[in-house]
Amino acid sequence: MFLKRIELQGFKSFADKSVITFDSDVIGIVGPNGCGKSNINDAIRWVLGEQSVKSLRGSSMSDVIFSGSQQRKAVNMAEVTLVFDNSKHFLNIDYEEVEVTRRLHRISGEGEYFINQTPCRLKDILNLVMDTGLGKDSLSIISQGNISSFAEAKPEDRRALFEEAAGVAKYKKRKNDSLNK
Ligand code: ATP
Ligand code: MG
Repeated sequence: MFLKRIELQGFKSFADKSVITFDSDVIGIVGPNGCGKSNINDAIRWVLGEQSVKSLRGSSMSDVIFSGSQQRKAVNMAEVTLVFDNSKHFLNIDYEEVEVTRRLHRISGEGEYFINQTPCRLKDILNLVMDTGLGKDSLSIISQGNISSFAEAKPEDRRALFEEAAGVAKYKKRKNDSLNK
């Protein structure tokens, strides 16, 4: 099992600390409408660097922070951690287990990123997952509506997905970065 665990606190409907453990190859998350199933998908993409508020189904980034309910006050920080089994060294980092964390503070608007509890930049997380198939735009996450948008995509957008899957996105990005320097 590659993604072992998700820990959420203050993210969307997950006000209290919640830990979801994936202990089988096939997992189904079921529940009534609005119980938070898609919020789990949002949380995974958010940690993997999603910056598009629209694709997180909000109108500002602070909409990912628990905004209160009849029983509970709003909170001021969202934090999500993904825990990956890296015993096969799928991620290019010398740890058997890799924890990737993202935080957002409501008041300051400040975002924080961590790899194995060490502060890092968003760029470090993007580099870690780039070309592994894990990126937020990769085929490892297929959200509602993805299939039809893939079928209807412009050829160059569809090509970007193939490039990510083939593992060449990293080289294209480095080339563009050096050309733009
Ligand atoms: P469906 O079966 O209809 O797809 P779902 O289980 O996927 O439902 P989600 O979209 O994950 O449901 O969750 C929606 C719920 O999350 C709504 O009740 C909404 O109020 C709640 N929610 C979203 N953002 C926040 C937030 N910032 N604070 C509190 N609750 C939130
Ligand atoms: Mg849903």
